[in-house]
Amino acid sequence: MTAVEETSETAEQARFRAEAHAWLEANAPRRRHDSSEFKRRVAATSAEDEQAHVAASKAWQRRLFDAGFAGVSVPREYSGRGDSPALDRVWRQEVVRYEIDIGVFSVALGMVLPTILAHGTEDQKRRFIPPMLRGDELWCQLFSEPGAGSDLAGLTTRAERDGDEWVVNGQKVWNSFAHFADWGILLARTDWDVPKHRGITYFLVDMRSAGVEPRPLRQITGVAHFNETFLTDVRIPADQVVGDVNGGWGVAQTTLMNERALIGGASPLGFHDYVELARHHGRTTDPEIRQALAATYTRYQILRWLGQRAQAAAKAGRPLGPESSVAKLVISDHSARNGDLALAIEGAAGMLAGRDAFEDGFWQQQFLGQWGVRIGGGTEQVQRNILGERVLGLPPEPRPDKTEPFRSVPKNA
Ligand SMILES: Cc1cc2nc3c(=O)[nH]c(=O)nc-3n(C[C@H](O)[C@H](O)[C@H](O)COP(=O)(O)OP(=O)(O)OC[C@H]3O[C@@H](n4cnc5c(N)ncnc54)[C@H](O)[C@@H]3O)c2cc1C
Repeated sequence: MTAVEETSETAEQARFRAEAHAWLEANAPRRRHDSSEFKRRVAATSAEDEQAHVAASKAWQRRLFDAGFAGVSVPREYSGRGDSPALDRVWRQEVVRYEIDIGVFSVALGMVLPTILAHGTEDQKRRFIPPMLRGDELWCQLFSEPGAGSDLAGLTTRAERDGDEWVVNGQKVWNSFAHFADWGILLARTDWDVPKHRGITYFLVDMRSAGVEPRPLRQITGVAHFNETFLTDVRIPADQVVGDVNGGWGVAQTTLMNERALIGGASPLGFHDYVELARHHGRTTDPEIRQALAATYTRYQILRWLGQRAQAAAKAGRPLGPESSVAKLVISDHSARNGDLALAIEGAAGMLAGRDAFEDGFWQQQFLGQWGVRIGGGTEQVQRNILGERVLGLPPEPRPDKTEPFRSVPKNA
């Protein structure tokens, strides 16, 4: 029995787990908790390293596709395996134990794919899902704007209809992988005379279209993971609208809920990585470090149980709801504490950076990267608002802009 195997597993799940396990053992290196090589790759900050990382991710996605493990629960007519979401979970439990880094596909597979499956036309499903699964096309998310992040529905990028096309103008920001992406999911305002949530449309945009200009932004970690993206007279064919015109807010909810769940389950690190770090630095007998390691172990267990709770909801046919906000919030806290712990373990050596630091600064990046995890996909404060209002039934924030036509809502200049 593998470490992650559930005792209540069905015969079908056990059979699939054995099949996935056998393929992974034969084809991929196991993730070792003392594996510096893997961490060095993840910590790479040069443009060449980033290109190499994307190329390696594409190659891995292709191998998974050829072996029949890409899109385990995606219907066969869209090139998936056509199995149940339960088998998809089994796959994710198994694959995480190997050094397969397909993180650049997280937007495509974790957010765009479920949105197109839920709201796309038949043509959109057939056109866009197979190349994602094959690793041929990378996707990015063009939602946030300089004046619209937490208040995403306040976005001002505009799309105007011109014959069979829409013409888009505006600016997006914090767009992960946009500089490598082939396609983007885009929210733009298509009606200014209705309240803000009701005048937004959801588009699929070819990132090679004239007028799309992503400019990479280098983060505090040294990695240029995301971009600001300028959109000038970008023409999008009308059949690349997902859902109804002005119905984009509802479609975006599917993307955002999947994004929170994705971030909630994203970290490649496990408890044993921190134990190994403490061993390497000779800190396993330090009582404060031991105490912090015990707390880390406890948080990993809590996260595991939260994951099981979400799985139980999915099994019972309930859509993802506030569970994703709880998971996102717990992951934020976990990420902050683990970042702090890593540098506490390193002690004075924690002040080093880049190639001078242990494992090329991977742990310093975990520390600095904690704010990305805590902000991306909805900040901690916003998740608390969602939980307060939707779970605890607390009075909602006063929001007069919810009912006024967007055109007359006061905005920053
Ligand atoms: C690593 C990373 C990757 C990202 N990738 C993408 C991407 O690929 N595509 C994309 O479109 N976006 C992306 N984002 C953007 C992300 O969704 C936004 O940063 C996030 O929604 C917060 O918006 P903001 O940065 O504009 O902050 P703001 O909304 O301006 O918030 C500033 C501060 O005010 C607080 N605040 C705001 N409103 C409230 C409120 N109502 N109640 C209490 N406090 C409040 C916030 O919690 C925060 O502390 C990414 C962000 C990060 C960090």
